[in-house]
Amino acid sequence: MKFISNLLDIIFPRHCIVCGEILSGEEKDICLNCLVRMPLIETRTLAEIEKIFWGIVPIERVASYIYYRKGTPYNRLLHHIKYKERPDVGVRLATNAATELKSRGFFEGIDAIVPLPLSKKKLKKRGYNQCDYIAQGIAKVTGIEIIDDCVVRNKANETQTHKSRDERWKNVEGIFSIINNEKIKNKHILLIDDVLTTGATLANCAKVLIECGCKVSIFTIAYSNNTI
Ligand SMILES: [Zn+2]
Repeated sequence: MKFISNLLDIIFPRHCIVCGEILSGEEKDICLNCLVRMPLIETRTLAEIEKIFWGIVPIERVASYIYYRKGTPYNRLLHHIKYKERPDVGVRLATNAATELKSRGFFEGIDAIVPLPLSKKKLKKRGYNQCDYIAQGIAKVTGIEIIDDCVVRNKANETQTHKSRDERWKNVEGIFSIINNEKIKNKHILLIDDVLTTGATLANCAKVLIECGCKVSIFTIAYSNNTI
C-alpha cells in the first residue's frame, strides 16, 4: 500500500494547503514545516475569548484551535474547509485540537456535540455544512454523540460586514429555534462553529439551547479578533 501511495504522490503530487510545497509520505494537508508553525491559541488567550460572552449568555467553557489573522497563509485552511469543498480538512484539524483538549479535561461532563446549522439556502448552495465535519473530528476522539436534528436555523443572516457591534448582535436575534426538545433538554452541549469572531451567532444559538435547560460550551477551529 505504501508503494502505491508513494506512486500516487509522484503521479498526482499533493500540495501543502498553507505554503503550496509538495507533500510527502505521511504528511496530510499541511507540511511539517507549516505544522510546527501553526498559530495555536494559548491557554491564557482562551480566558480572554470566554469574556466575549460575559453578560450576554452564560457559557461553561470555550476553546478555539488557531488564530484567523488577516493576510496569513494559514487562513487558507479555513477557506478550504468552507469554500473549496475540502471539509475533510476540518475533520483532521478538529481531531488534532480534540486530542490536545481531551488531555486537559475540556470535554468532561459534555453529553452531546451540536454543529451550528446552516440555513437551508446556504446548505443547498455549499452542498455541505462544514460544522458537521468539525463535529465528526471531535466525536472521533471523544466518542461523544453528535446531535444534528434539534437546532434549526430559520433564515440566513445578512452579511455582517459594515455593521456596528450592536447591529451585528441584533442582526442574528431569533435566527435559531429548537425542535425535538425532549432529545436535547437538560444536556451539556458542545456547540461547534468554524470561526469565532463577534460571537453573536454562537451566543444566539446558545440562548435557545439554554432556554431548553441545556448547559453550553463552545468549540471553534479558529478565532479572529479583528471584526472583518
Ligand atoms: Zn507548508
